[in-house]
Amino acid sequence: MARYRGAVCRLCRREGDKLFLKGERCYTGKCAMDRRPFAPGQHGRRRTKVSEYGLQLREKQKAKRIYGILETQFFNYYVEAERRNGIAGDNLLIILETRLDNVVYRAGLGRSRTEARQVVRHNHILVNGKKVNIPSYLVKPGDVITLKEKSLNLQRFKDIIETTGSRTAPEWMEADLENRSIKINDIPTRDIIDVPVNETLIVELYSK
Ligand code: SF4
Repeated sequence: MARYRGAVCRLCRREGDKLFLKGERCYTGKCAMDRRPFAPGQHGRRRTKVSEYGLQLREKQKAKRIYGILETQFFNYYVEAERRNGIAGDNLLIILETRLDNVVYRAGLGRSRTEARQVVRHNHILVNGKKVNIPSYLVKPGDVITLKEKSLNLQRFKDIIETTGSRTAPEWMEADLENRSIKINDIPTRDIIDVPVNETLIVELYSK
């Protein structure tokens, strides 16, 4: 499965925003956006006028980077978002937010989305009692996500929860980290999805 393997802090610097791709480091003084808050590269400090297309492109790149998704899959999500009833931009973010790796991250079983994706890929996760190792699996209301029995007491999860225990899970899920369990109560609405993305610009870009 393809994924971006380069330096992730560069991605934040390119977008000019903290995308929180590195877990706890993002909350410390080591964050590259705090230390070098300008675009990477030789001309990173230059001020350039950004075109409308440029703004739309940057917004799409930001969303892809936040959720760790490459272009083809992201475009397929857009196609699905257009097909569904409702506002395409809202649908797009709802699809991204209900990916299993994002749910594992939001609930606190991963310090970053990258780590949550690895947790899923490494066969630690059961959905409704069945092994699911596909990060793009879309959760539904009523789904119960747990760790498989062998993983319940792994030191890795104790360490993760020590870091994420103070996080509040979004209201559309119930996270019981003590029992390593997440229950999906609802599908999120756009207004409770906490990501710094203007999805309208993405829809404008793709509808050209
Ligand atoms: Fe982005 Fe986190 Fe790196 Fe800061 S530490 S630049 S928020 S990935």
